[in-house]
Amino acid sequence: MTQNPDHVLDHFELFRGPEYVEMLRNKKKNFENPVDDADLERVREWTKTPEYREKNFAREALTVNPAKACQPLGAVFAAVGFEATLPFVHGSQGCVAYYRSHFSRHFKEPSSCVSSSMTEDAAVFGGLNNMVDGLANAYNMCKPKMIAVSTTCMAEVIGDDLNAFIKTSKEKGSVPAEFDVPFAHTPAFVGSHITCYDNVMKGIVEHFWGGNAGTVPKLERQENGKLNFNGGFDGYTVGNMREVKRIFDLMGVEYTILGDSSDVAIRFITLFERGYDAILR
Ligand code: SF4
Repeated sequence: MTQNPDHVLDHFELFRGPEYVEMLRNKKKNFENPVDDADLERVREWTKTPEYREKNFAREALTVNPAKACQPLGAVFAAVGFEATLPFVHGSQGCVAYYRSHFSRHFKEPSSCVSSSMTEDAAVFGGLNNMVDGLANAYNMCKPKMIAVSTTCMAEVIGDDLNAFIKTSKEKGSVPAEFDVPFAHTPAFVGSHITCYDNVMKGIVEHFWGGNAGTVPKLERQENGKLNFNGGFDGYTVGNMREVKRIFDLMGVEYTILGDSSDVAIRFITLFERGYDAILR
């Protein structure tokens, strides 16, 4: 097998293994009604000709399908770009199952994310208890280095206050006071997964910039000659971010990537192992 439990490959390398190359070739041949390679090459070359270019320039109307997803999906995607970070969505479990299944299908990788599992009683009385218990469970079972909190529609409609809830959870001992729990309110009835990605990234940066919720002094800007790069919400991040890093390396640029989700599988495994070790201890 190409995949090996002692050295788990993410799909970028995995699908180049011989079994997968063979499987994908058979799938194409038997189920995808393929055109032959010569025809493919002929059309590829035609797309580089002036005739094709003129056809493109002659277009007068363009229809864009915005394909918007809801905000917390962007929150989860932003959170997994940070090392050993567990995305935690305050709200209903069904929403979070959607993000997990969406990302698992898209990236062909297991995708980690937990919810505070709010149900009818929390919708009426508020989700504070869910946050207190949820953070404690997530912290003790997965042993993440950071938990990034966002919200679903339900928590936003009833107006749960994340800042107050996280402070209370820390006072009640769910997580240590100095443990990093950045957050962003992410109401899904406005904006989209793109705006939410930006909100969560801002929430994480502000958390560290502003003194980790008052536990350390605020940071001050100090130049270090490095470039900060944030690729934004990019569904093709696995390939694109690796290419960006390769180009930076070729140019000899020193850089810091803010939110690198191009190795999500590796991060998931790291988180899992941390939790597994915690259970074994
Ligand atoms: S739109 Fe709201 S209810 Fe629907 S999945 Fe997103 S957060 Fe959940």
